[in-house]
Amino acid sequence: MESILAKLGLEASNKGATTGGSSGWLTTGGEMLSTVSPIDGELIARIQQATDDDYEAVVATAREAFEKWRCMPAPQRGEVVRQIGLRLREHKQALGALITLEAGKITAEGEGEVQEMIDIADFAVGLSRQLYGLTMHSERPQHRMYEQWHPLGAVGVITAFNFPAAVWSWNALIAAVCGDVVIWKPSSKTALTAIAIHNIIAPVLDQHGLRGVFNLVIGSGTQVGEAMINDPRLPLISATGSTRMGRHVGTTVAKRLGRSLLELGGNNAIIVCEDADLDLALRATVFGAVGTAGQRCTSTRRIIVHAAIRERFVQALTRAYAQVRVGDPRRNETLMGPLIDASAVDQMMTALDQARSQGAEVLFGGERMTPVPGGFYAAPTLVAAENHFPVVQTETFAPILYILEYENFEDALRMHNDVPQGLSSAIFTKSLPYSEAFLAATGSDCGIANVNIGTSGAEIGGAFGGEKETGGGRESGSDAWRAYMRRQTNTINWGASLPLAQGITFDL
Ligand code: NAD
Repeated sequence: MESILAKLGLEASNKGATTGGSSGWLTTGGEMLSTVSPIDGELIARIQQATDDDYEAVVATAREAFEKWRCMPAPQRGEVVRQIGLRLREHKQALGALITLEAGKITAEGEGEVQEMIDIADFAVGLSRQLYGLTMHSERPQHRMYEQWHPLGAVGVITAFNFPAAVWSWNALIAAVCGDVVIWKPSSKTALTAIAIHNIIAPVLDQHGLRGVFNLVIGSGTQVGEAMINDPRLPLISATGSTRMGRHVGTTVAKRLGRSLLELGGNNAIIVCEDADLDLALRATVFGAVGTAGQRCTSTRRIIVHAAIRERFVQALTRAYAQVRVGDPRRNETLMGPLIDASAVDQMMTALDQARSQGAEVLFGGERMTPVPGGFYAAPTLVAAENHFPVVQTETFAPILYILEYENFEDALRMHNDVPQGLSSAIFTKSLPYSEAFLAATGSDCGIANVNIGTSGAEIGGAFGGEKETGGGRESGSDAWRAYMRRQTNTINWGASLPLAQGITFDL
């Protein structure tokens, strides 16, 4: 552990606010936060959280930085992001190991998260030359119309514990090439990763003399989070987390007529049709439900399986679940690590009690585990349930998979969409009509809909996000960058007269 911390510039006690670069760390007098590893409950390091004064200092520096950063040509901003990508490549292993230590992800997933940061950096570099606007044909002679995209300002980024690094990069690296500056409030459960990232990128910021472009403020949701969402100096708040948090953030930011980009909870299902390749469906289901210990927003939470193959599929799932090795995520053979903390395990057990009382049957797992003393482990769990059970309608952030059965395809689709959330979805079938029906306007109502691929593990090239209680936001690829910019429509009259639109005459 010491060598990982040393490689990332972390100490036993760390400052919790920075305006970026090696000398940007603020002398904070805030309360100490202890970060423990979910692997064994041991202390990793401590963080001195930001005070209100630190927050004010960060916002002031960020706003000053915006004045200059927005004037730097976008491809030059892209060059800064390219160099950040190189630093991330050099530190992929160490940062991945810290994510494993702090969030409990298995090594492959910890490093995979850093790879996602590298990928989005590359994407953002290309994007820095592609912040395109449209041109329009004016209805008036000798007039030209077009739109352009300008930077927005200081963007507040609030992130969840389960992607302690990647979600910042989706937001920050895209926002940066767009000409925005970023103020990040990470989850207090995984804030060391945020400090490590700022240490990794510090030499790039030093080299370019950039202070205030990438900022960090560590503190609770009720202190730092509230300050951000109520702050009219932050025109956009991008918030990733639970629907409960997002509902509060969305209404608070709306009250000041700010913009919010919400990435909230999911309740993702896979429909397994009678003609599905069961081997593919099985592997996608196990990865989707058990990966990251069921703590991905895109984790598979419901399987909607055709009655004719239900028994066979459940038996195969049970055999596969029996082979999932739960334990220390640093060990090569481990497939499922711990949950984030003791309360996450308690919430899983409460959900299972509720499921039983609502008529569900636990088919596999359901118990706490102690493969490593002091850690927060539970068995991956299969539950036979019905879609309308309140517990099935709720996102429990744990490795619980509800098995639901259908007889005709319309029922499967109806069940699929009949939850409050709308993030990710999948169908396994060899039938063109089924797969097209799933992707049609009357099909899946989610932001992500896949065929013969599971619900989790999205690529960065597409826009990521979901509908309904998932919040409607889109991040990462495609044209999600537009959320970080303001659109301006320009009309230029290069003639000698002043014709009015819609043919209106107004002669003096
Ligand atoms: P959470 O809602 O408990 O916390 C998320 C963030 O919100 C944290 O940084 C927290 O400090 C902050 N916060 C809490 N109260 C706040 C307030 N009043 N004002 C401002 N900020 C506040 O979520 P979590 O437990 O860290 O993460 C798990 C949840 O995140 C799950 O519901 C999961 O589905 C969701 N998630 C969604 C996506 C997505 O892209 N849709 C991605 C990852 C996680």
